[in-house]
Amino acid sequence: MSLLRRSAARAEGRAGGEGGFGAAEGAAGLTSRDVRSGPSSRQRKSAIFRTCANPRCASGWLHLWRSREAPVFENGWCCSAACTRACVEAALRREMDARGPVRETHRHRIPLGLAMLEQGWISGKDLRAALAAQRSAGSGKLGEWLVRQRSTSEELVTRTLGLQWGCPVLSIEYHNPEDLTPLVPRLFIDAFGALPLRVAAGKILYLGFEDRVDPALALAVERMTGLRVEAGLVPGSHFRLAHERALEARFPSAELIEAATERALAMALANAIEESEPVQARLVRVHDCFWLRLWRRPQAGPLPESGSIRDLIASTAAH
Ligand SMILES: [Zn+2]
Repeated sequence: MSLLRRSAARAEGRAGGEGGFGAAEGAAGLTSRDVRSGPSSRQRKSAIFRTCANPRCASGWLHLWRSREAPVFENGWCCSAACTRACVEAALRREMDARGPVRETHRHRIPLGLAMLEQGWISGKDLRAALAAQRSAGSGKLGEWLVRQRSTSEELVTRTLGLQWGCPVLSIEYHNPEDLTPLVPRLFIDAFGALPLRVAAGKILYLGFEDRVDPALALAVERMTGLRVEAGLVPGSHFRLAHERALEARFPSAELIEAATERALAMALANAIEESEPVQARLVRVHDCFWLRLWRRPQAGPLPESGSIRDLIASTAAH
């Protein structure tokens, strides 16, 4: 069962007024300023000089002269529905071909218990007792057993995981989920266990995870929002509480698309772009999904205005 089907099934039973959600990660290499400014006044005034973003555009100069200003897809103006589709197809190919820059790192990691022992945060006796309890129960993470047996604190377990993954431990202080819902679609928060925590100085988004960070999602959010994403871990009980609260918040609408072929997917996404006439749009891939975001108005700040964005989260049966 695909992520979209699983998530759609879960979303059906949930209130909140969302049409759907999706997941994808992307790399359009755009900046948030591109979205904020929209087409420049020079561009608006001189549509006659505009160049279609489709390198294979077959339109004659008379076609390019017309006053159509939108849509804009990844900073490029598309002169016709056919050119929008060609640009979307090229972006889909780019996202499917890109194996990196995020690669799953299979670094050798010292097991959690040994890492904690090395730090002097637990004793050998603590470790043996937790391993025995875990073995006889046949379930549970070692860190949970160590905390349950009062051998260590949840904070130290998270700190050790942070050392293992080379990422910081983040706090949920000042976390206001309602403020952050336009940044990451709820599907990703739900399916990938991510938690947007706060935006600092209008430039950095702190993104929390429970056990391990998801670099593919972090990169996708960075590319989509134009914010630098600092991913880190949040102690388990704090994470679960804040994550639950985040999922209850009201998110911008999102639509799920599941297409039979890549061609059908490109057509569905291009149609959505034509219909919404966005001043900016971007496509990124997140794991097995594509995330298309449409900005229908230029943005005033780093946090998108909920009512002005439209998210489509899509996958293909073949992908
Ligand atoms: Zn064109």
